[in-house]
Order: sequence, then C-alpha cells, then structure tokens
Amino acid sequence: MPSSPEDMLKFLKDNKIEWVDLQFTDVPGRLHHITIPANEFDENTVKTGFGKLDGSSIKGFTMIYESDMVLLPVPETMTLIPWTPGVARVITKVFWGGGKGRFERDPRFIAEEAEKYQLSQGYTSFFGPEMEFFIFDKIDLDVATPQRGTGYKIIAREAPWQNSGGFLIRYKEGYYPAPPVDQLMDVRLEAVETLVKYFGFTIEATHHEVATGGQGEIDFRFSTLADTADKVQTLKYVVKNVAAKHGMVATFMPKPMFGDNGTGMHTHFSLWTADGKKNLMYDPNDEYAEISQTGRYVIGGILHHARALSAIVSASVNSYRRLVPGFEAPVYIAWSKSNRSAIIRVPSYYKGIEKAKRIEYRAPDPSCNPYLAFAAILMAALDGVNKKIDPGDPVDENIYHLTPEKRKQLGIKELPRSLDEALDELESDKEFLKPVFNSSILDTYIDLKREEAKTLQMYPHPMELYYYLDS
Ligand code: GLU
Ligand code: MG
Ligand code: MG
Repeated sequence: MPSSPEDMLKFLKDNKIEWVDLQFTDVPGRLHHITIPANEFDENTVKTGFGKLDGSSIKGFTMIYESDMVLLPVPETMTLIPWTPGVARVITKVFWGGGKGRFERDPRFIAEEAEKYQLSQGYTSFFGPEMEFFIFDKIDLDVATPQRGTGYKIIAREAPWQNSGGFLIRYKEGYYPAPPVDQLMDVRLEAVETLVKYFGFTIEATHHEVATGGQGEIDFRFSTLADTADKVQTLKYVVKNVAAKHGMVATFMPKPMFGDNGTGMHTHFSLWTADGKKNLMYDPNDEYAEISQTGRYVIGGILHHARALSAIVSASVNSYRRLVPGFEAPVYIAWSKSNRSAIIRVPSYYKGIEKAKRIEYRAPDPSCNPYLAFAAILMAALDGVNKKIDPGDPVDENIYHLTPEKRKQLGIKELPRSLDEALDELESDKEFLKPVFNSSILDTYIDLKREEAKTLQMYPHPMELYYYLDS
C-alpha cells in the first residue's frame, strides 16, 4: 500500500486507475464518499487536498455560510475496490477551505489528537475490536407510508420463522454449527478474502455468531488507534458491499431482533510504553489474571466513566435494546476474568504471554463512531492511570443472577437504560475527554444524538399496538 503522496500517484498509474473515491466519516459515524477522475488527483491534490466538499450537507459538519471544505488523502489507506474495477479508494482528513486548517469536527482528527496526547504522556495503545453483524436476505421495511413506522419483516434463509425448506438455526444456537446449517460461510469468506487481498487486513477468525438470522463475526489483528478506526469503517464498508453483491443486506445495528443476541463490538485494549516495547498491563506475578497494577487502573478508569462512555460507545437508541440481561451483552459495571456478564473481562486464553495481555471492554457496539469511541476509551483508561482509580474486586459470579440487594452490597452499578440517560451522564462527566475532544465536537455530537433520541421517542412502536390496542 502507498506510504507517501508520491506513492499514491504511482499506485494509480501502476493499477491503471481511472477514478479515485475520497472517503471520510461524519460525526455520527457513517462513511461518505465522493468520486473524482484520476487526472484530478494530481501532485497538488496529494499534498494540499481536494476541495469540493459542501460540509453543510454532512451531519455535524458545517453551516451553510461556511461550507467549503478540503479532503486530504491518507496514503496508507489507498486501495483498489474489487467490485468497481478501475476505482481506488482513499480515506481522507477533512480541512477547512481557504487554508484555515484542520476541521475540528472531523472524527478522524479526534483520533489523531488522542494518539498525540498519549505519546505526550509517555504511552501508546492498541485496539482490537470484534466485529459482529447480521446478514439478512432482505428487510421488508414499512416506514414510508402515511402511517410511517408500522413495522418491518426480516427475511433470513436460516431463521426459524423463515421455513425455507432447508436447515434452520434455533434461537441462540448459532454458535459454530458447521455447514450446511451455517448457510453464510461463503459470504463471510468472500468478505474476509476481500479484506486480506485488497485492504491489507490480517484476519484472526471469522465465524457464525450466537443469533439465528445470519449473525456473523470477523476478528482482525489489533493495531493503533486511528488505524483501527479506519479498519472498522473499512470492514463495515466491505461486509455491506459483499453482502449487497449477493443480493443480501448486512447490518451492524446493535439489536435488529427481539429475543436473540444483539450485535456487539467488544473492544480489546492494551496500554504500552510510548516506544511500543513494554505492555504496561502485564504482570506475570499477578495470580488472578496476570494483570498489572497499571492494568487495574485502566479498568478503574473505564468503569468509573462507563456511564458517560455509553453515550459514545453505545451510540444509538437501538443500542439500549441490546444492553439487557440474558444475551451476553453487559448491563452491570464490574470486571472479571472470564465472566461474560461483566462489562470488562481480562481474557485468560494464554498464560505468560506479554503481548496478549489486554482487557476486553464489552459495552461498545458497531453503531458507534469508532474514531470517537476509541479516543474516549483511551481517555477513560488514562484518567484511571493518572488518578490511580481502583476498580474494586473482580466479580466472578453470573451478575445477571445476583439479587439487586447483593449487587448493591457489592457496589455494582448499571449502565444507562437509554441513549438519553447516557447523554445526561456524558454531559455531567466530560472533563476527562477535554484534552482531546474540543467542545465543538462534543456539543455537536450531544445535540445530534439528543435529536435522534427525541425523534425516535415520538414514533408509536408497532408493539405498542399489540399491548395497547384494546386499551
Ligand atoms: N453478541 C454478543 C453481544 O452483543 C456477544 C457475544 C460474544 O460473546 O461474542 O455483545
Ligand atoms: Mg462475538
Ligand atoms: Mg468477545
């Protein structure tokens, strides 16, 4: 992959590229693109950027009276796009037009600021998200009629309600049945092969996930903060496009179906010295989980800010339908070694391996903006380290089954139950983000999310008719 502006020009020539797709992410986290002819992508463009973006039509970007923006390509992200030959894509950094500098509400800017900040404090960090999703055959949406929002129907070849005449996957029994019961291996494989061959990914595993209806997972090798966020955006882009090629719909929404598991983006995190040579979270002499005191402070910081972090890592109204007991999603703010009902786990697959020591933070789901989510996780972790925040004792029981009294006795708090509640928490606990998140992006993010919550709150839900029709 290219590593300099000049490399990009060579890449375009070598691959006979005719069009370049410039990509960037809006404040809520959706990927956007604009396609330009390769001959417009010249020596100037690679150094000073391409100016054509009207920021006023992008969520969270600019006002109509200050809307000219410039996109500067990040060389390492330039790749071919297999499903549109002759086109290369490249992720870009967003700048104000007129030489006014970096655009402060570009989410990638926040990720880059977080990387700078950690270095200034003597640290580096690694992120490894587990990407879950559903691949449906089709969604019949009924949202555009005068009675908008009357409902939706999921069509999924393997699901019990489908009766497609083939094998089916019973509710919550999707964890690893071999084909032909797993009917989506070919689509997942095509996605991971595309990620490896074209987008430079190292894949660790891909498998069917617990839920019926086509739930899958792809795990890729951990990396640095901004690079991992780029990879999350790329993976979502590839999985959706490969599914679309098969006439299917891939979705990363956290809870598309009642009564089965939702979709998480468990995020593995480790904190290292700035030179990347020593994993500060590893202590071979710790009997509980080979986790160091610094590692405990990292956990302390994330648990301490967990309710505020929710608004960024569980970023949609739909996220809170996932965060309920009984579906392997976290509800309670506690940590443990292998307890999947806790919000933070210290995976113990390996013993004596420094590189592998990390925590798994289970609250995030892929409806978040990964640039903001990873930056916020880092800031909570560093706050824990700086203030020596004690995470308390680990909880190794199934927390879903503890009585409320017992939870109270152990001091175990719950995550917020709605996006609005999470936003309240973020508003009252945002100081720890300030060294990296400017107030403009924080305010804009909170406003956009409040609006989202308010709009959805006004829709009568189809199930309300089931419950209240006979009122
Ligand atoms: N799908 C579950 C979630 O919503 C996680 C399943 C797993 O442990 O991988 O977090
Ligand atoms: Mg999983
Ligand atoms: Mg996991």
